[in-house]
Amino acid sequence: MERAPIAETRSTCCYCGVGCGVIIQHHGGRIVGVRGDLDHPANHGKLCSKGATLHETTTLAGRVLHPELRRQRTSARQRVGWDDALEHAAERFADIIRTHGPDAVAFYISGQLLTEDYYVFNKLAKGLIGTNNIDSNSRLCMSSAVAGYKQTLGADAPPACYDDIDHADCLLIWGANPAYAHPVLHRRIEAAKARKPELRVIVVDPRRTDTAASADLHLAVVPGTDLVLLNAILHVLIWEDRIDREFIRDHTEGFDELRSVVSEMTPALASQLCGVPVDDILTAARWFGAAGAALSMWCQGLNQSTHGTHNTAAIVHLHLAAGQIGRPGAGPLSLTGQPNAMGGREVGGMANLLTAHRDLGSAQDRAWVANFWGIDAVPEHPGRTAVELFDALESGAVKAVWIACTNPAQSLPHLARVQAALARAEFVVLQDAFSTTETVPFADLLLPAASWGEKDGTVTNSERCITRVHRAVEPPGEARPDWRIGCDFALALGRCLGKDAATLFPYRTPEAIFREHAQSTRGRDLDIAELDYTVLDRDGPQQWPYRDGKGTTRLFTDGRFPTVSGRARFVKIDMRTTAENIDARYPLRMNTGRLRDQWHGMSRTGRTARAFGHVPEPMLTMHPDDMARRDLGPGAYARIRSRRGSIVLRVEPSFDMQRGQVFVPIHFGASHLSHAGVNALCLSAFDPYSKQPELKHAAVQVELCVLPWKVVALRRAPPEVEGDEKALRWIQALRPLLRDFDYAYVSLTGRRESAATLRVAHHEPLSASQMDALDVALDLVSERCSLYEDRRRGISKRAWVEGDRLLGFRLAGEVSASDWLADTLTEDRPASVSRRWMLGPFSAPPLATPLPAAGRIVCNCHRVAEAPILQCLGRGGDLDALQRELRCGTHCGSCLPELRRMMAQTAATT
Ligand code: SF4
Repeated sequence: MERAPIAETRSTCCYCGVGCGVIIQHHGGRIVGVRGDLDHPANHGKLCSKGATLHETTTLAGRVLHPELRRQRTSARQRVGWDDALEHAAERFADIIRTHGPDAVAFYISGQLLTEDYYVFNKLAKGLIGTNNIDSNSRLCMSSAVAGYKQTLGADAPPACYDDIDHADCLLIWGANPAYAHPVLHRRIEAAKARKPELRVIVVDPRRTDTAASADLHLAVVPGTDLVLLNAILHVLIWEDRIDREFIRDHTEGFDELRSVVSEMTPALASQLCGVPVDDILTAARWFGAAGAALSMWCQGLNQSTHGTHNTAAIVHLHLAAGQIGRPGAGPLSLTGQPNAMGGREVGGMANLLTAHRDLGSAQDRAWVANFWGIDAVPEHPGRTAVELFDALESGAVKAVWIACTNPAQSLPHLARVQAALARAEFVVLQDAFSTTETVPFADLLLPAASWGEKDGTVTNSERCITRVHRAVEPPGEARPDWRIGCDFALALGRCLGKDAATLFPYRTPEAIFREHAQSTRGRDLDIAELDYTVLDRDGPQQWPYRDGKGTTRLFTDGRFPTVSGRARFVKIDMRTTAENIDARYPLRMNTGRLRDQWHGMSRTGRTARAFGHVPEPMLTMHPDDMARRDLGPGAYARIRSRRGSIVLRVEPSFDMQRGQVFVPIHFGASHLSHAGVNALCLSAFDPYSKQPELKHAAVQVELCVLPWKVVALRRAPPEVEGDEKALRWIQALRPLLRDFDYAYVSLTGRRESAATLRVAHHEPLSASQMDALDVALDLVSERCSLYEDRRRGISKRAWVEGDRLLGFRLAGEVSASDWLADTLTEDRPASVSRRWMLGPFSAPPLATPLPAAGRIVCNCHRVAEAPILQCLGRGGDLDALQRELRCGTHCGSCLPELRRMMAQTAATT
């Protein structure tokens, strides 16, 4: 019988805000592959290491497949039908609304949602219920950029676009690491630099990231002193007369007031405060001021700050002062962390916004929206933003919360409070695709949501570009698209409240929702009234505003801005540093950030072994001098403590860190670790304008944590079983056991097939029952396992060899063979030859075992590990040789910055 051909469907990547177009390949109702969309303007066919492995995340393990409800907190959730689930939710919400008013309920939604989903939830909260208590995890990501744009330019409107990278003469990247977080954009920067070597790239970051290492100038600013440095650069621009007086006179206001503020911020003073040498401040200002076109990009390093709004304002000031805006290659361009953070803002899906960039504070705008929706009024007072919302849940002011496709129990700061708030809430609804997130245990009602590849709609990326997303396969089980869940709930709630929800939510398709949203934008700065699905399908992605059959590449090209006066504004900056200062007790500055191959809370990337190849385990990164001062060797366990809690991680040295600063990746939470992850340490202080919390900085102490009792285990499936699915299920079985230990970590590993891996470190020997529980969870209880037990010394080992394959092992108390056993398992090396040594205290494999361990993966596409790369470089190889001999860096290119850095390091040491 002939096999049906693989079908292809156009969509977008669901990770970062670059918004790459993808072609989903599917067959028989399953997604089997993904490739970059050559016709998409954001990526022209390129994908990074995350996007290229999207299809590997679509296994069914860990998906929510049907609604589950618990009527009492003490009971387990039980499967229920959709009708029962929604009726129950509607009755609970209606009860609370009737008794305590509409502001006693809230919605916390996600930049993962499509624009149509967002529109429905916004209308549900503000239109049907009458509360502005709807906020999004975009609050943690982009709200400072939004508030900064509004203060300076008058609208949430990023003026520049990706094409400007090709036109810029100076590129200022501030608080962003696109080499890791926006890799396809970084490819574009590399290509622009290769084409035009005179392009000056300046990177401002406390760490020497791969982006910083590849720049012409790296300014290692002290965390929290960005405003000092930004104002010092403006000071130099003014002092050296590198400003555009005509542009300032004709198109801006407030310059004279700001000039008197920045006149005090001399490079000498700034250097003392922000740690950047005077000469580097002068060079950065001169490069920016002399550029024919200067483009700036920034992300969480500026946004996630208690002065994030003014960080954005200060970077926009540079463009206004130098007249670097509204021309090819010139302008500010904030980078979004999520695929549809901008779409959510377009529909007003946040606590302080109204649809189509209307102002919640304006009676006229509220009346317009009420009239458009056919309701009496939109509530006047701003709703509770992310941190405020969970504070209100903790205090009892908000009693029920509906969470859609986000994971606040892992992603918000000060997690102990967030988790206490969720536990205190009277009713928690979670609609999500994945049952493995940290928020799931708090859900009274868990609803199965469709996920990537299973939904229709639109998204908007960082450069205002709207892309049509097509469903490739049906959602699994009883999962439904998010817009439909919102509409169905609205209808059920309307019945309970005696309101006509059917008129408010008449939609049968996402296209109908988009049409309504598009009409709401008529005459606004983001006008897309002429845009519809037919145009998007026919002409491809379009940048707003879309008028006269055309999208708009750049904004403000005529020098007019959407403020009352039509002029852009220089705003008065509040000079502040970090919310929390270091002191004798908490002497280290903790910085948080992203890894190259993981994304956010890992609910998706945590499902593919390839995402763990580059960084197999989350590490605390420190300067070697700070480690030595604390008796910390490489790989030692360290306790990191802030005023809010403590976590344990292994530590790695890096000269890319400044002394006195440490770095922890954001991705790993309680679904992979024995603790809640780095956000347990972060504080919830937020910016007064944007309400974005300062997730980027906390004062911490670090000390050696002596955990002598180790367990290492790996487990893979027999070849006839689908490995990824099985490995994910073992990880799920291990998760509840992790919190028993001082340190425990589960992940996926494997190059040819996936295996579950477990690492435990504890202050005392594990009990027999703890060991049994681990073995049961890993299904390592077969009689065919080889065993070694020495109870007196606390040593217990087992290994399972089937034929010539090592299927799994668990070593406890003495783990010196773990590295070569892991290598035997993941590289599928013949096991019978080494079988008799497996349970012995041998740190090296028997002589007959070929090849040493290859180490972590650098090139994910061709699975090239660190060791062969170093060997090639040691032989005098260059990038050409690496690409020719090993093929690394020849496909997605995500590893290129690291390859270049390894080349530079090798050259420096030989
Ligand atoms: Fe996805 Fe990578 Fe493109 Fe971001 S850069 S949208 S993660 S493929």
